[in-house]
Amino acid sequence: MSDIIRRDPRAEWIARNRLHPLHAAMQPAQASWVGPNGIIRKNVHGIGFIGPNGIKRIDRSGAQQGGTVKRTTTADVLLPLHQVIDPAFYIAVVPDMVGGRLSSHDRDLLGLAHSLAGTEGAVLAVVFGEHKESAFDTAGVDRLLLLEGAEFAGYSPEQRVQGLRAVDNQFDPRHWLLPDSRSGGGELGRRFAASMGERPATRVWQVKDAQATGRAGAGREDIARPVSRLILAAAECAEPVSETRHEALPVELSTNIARSLPRIEDLGAVAVDPALIPMAEAEFIFSGGNGVKDWDLFHRTAVALGATEGASRVAVDDGFMTRDRQVGASGTWVTARVYVAVGISGAIQHLQGIGACDKVVAINLDPTCDMIKRADLSVIGESAAILQALIEAVEAYRNEAKRDAA
Ligand SMILES: Cc1cc2nc3c(=O)[nH]c(=O)nc-3n(C[C@H](O)[C@H](O)[C@H](O)COP(=O)(O)OP(=O)(O)OC[C@H]3O[C@@H](n4cnc5c(N)ncnc54)[C@H](O)[C@@H]3O)c2cc1C
Repeated sequence: MSDIIRRDPRAEWIARNRLHPLHAAMQPAQASWVGPNGIIRKNVHGIGFIGPNGIKRIDRSGAQQGGTVKRTTTADVLLPLHQVIDPAFYIAVVPDMVGGRLSSHDRDLLGLAHSLAGTEGAVLAVVFGEHKESAFDTAGVDRLLLLEGAEFAGYSPEQRVQGLRAVDNQFDPRHWLLPDSRSGGGELGRRFAASMGERPATRVWQVKDAQATGRAGAGREDIARPVSRLILAAAECAEPVSETRHEALPVELSTNIARSLPRIEDLGAVAVDPALIPMAEAEFIFSGGNGVKDWDLFHRTAVALGATEGASRVAVDDGFMTRDRQVGASGTWVTARVYVAVGISGAIQHLQGIGACDKVVAINLDPTCDMIKRADLSVIGESAAILQALIEAVEAYRNEAKRDAA
């Protein structure tokens, strides 16, 4: 990771908010002190914060210090524990758990669940199959119900509906929340609604004043209706939980789950050519810009990683990539879980297109460029050397895996 100071809007907000539990931890280091000869000394470097364009800004109120201070991170600070000893009711959430972990969509849903639970209710997360998640507590889960039987593995929507019905019988949640996604939640939610005879609110992006507002008419209009019991919510339907820690107490089902008729046989995932996946649907995008000097090497790296190729506008205008691969304001807005930007400076038009990506990795020569500031992981160096090393690392990893399997 580079030493570049990044802005943290949340930290800046907490630093301004004196009522926030983490306010003290976000305050800057001592700005002035009395020197040995009695003269007051000031640390002029400790004032201000780094703005989005990399220029130092000074807020004369002295409050906005979040970006400059070497402060304790959220992981180091113990967030206040939110406990619900005896829940008056439950709000059930069924996260997608793509890759065994909570997605950002799942976290938004948990945030929405908390706004519906208030202080009396508890958020119950129902998780199917094995998972790799270790942060249910900070994501806002008060009670955790794991349904891990082999019958829930793979594509098993009918059996999962039976599982949800058993949960419904036992916990009788006030609301059920599922992500209205293509990763399973959208289908499971509709099947569950049909089996319960409930009319769900779909593609909900806001729940406010007992009204749920959802997209309709091919995304051109909204439908507002009283909050239904079953809500299929869109991404960004609410702010994820970030200021409290939760118990994530394990709970169990006391009844047996009915077995569904085995009408569906899961034959496993179908191998698809990543190059044929439309940009807007790709989960893993490997994008090249003006800093790519060896395009043949770039394509070989994308194949080795199994990623879908993307490009900046300059790479497209220069004829190295086709127009349908352009990412950004005048190209495609992508929602990849991982976006790797090779030799892309991070112009605002490009950054607009990757706003919804989960994790961004930047490979660039210039440690001060905007793409590095946006990135979660940065590799500073010559793109050709890094891509070559990446191919070798992937091949070594695959060979080792093959040896272990043999
Ligand atoms: C109306 C309008 C719409 C636009 N829409 C889009 C859009 O949809 N998408 C889009 O991408 N752009 C768009 N642009 C263009 C945008 O403003 C930028 O010009 C463009 O994104 C820059 O592309 P780039 O980052 O590949 O190139 P550059 O800005 O030239 O950046 C190249 C980067 O590569 C790095 N680099 C150089 N050599 C190496 C090396 N050997 N190894 C590693 N790194 C290296 C440099 O440090 C630099 O950061 C639009 C512009 C306008 C005016």
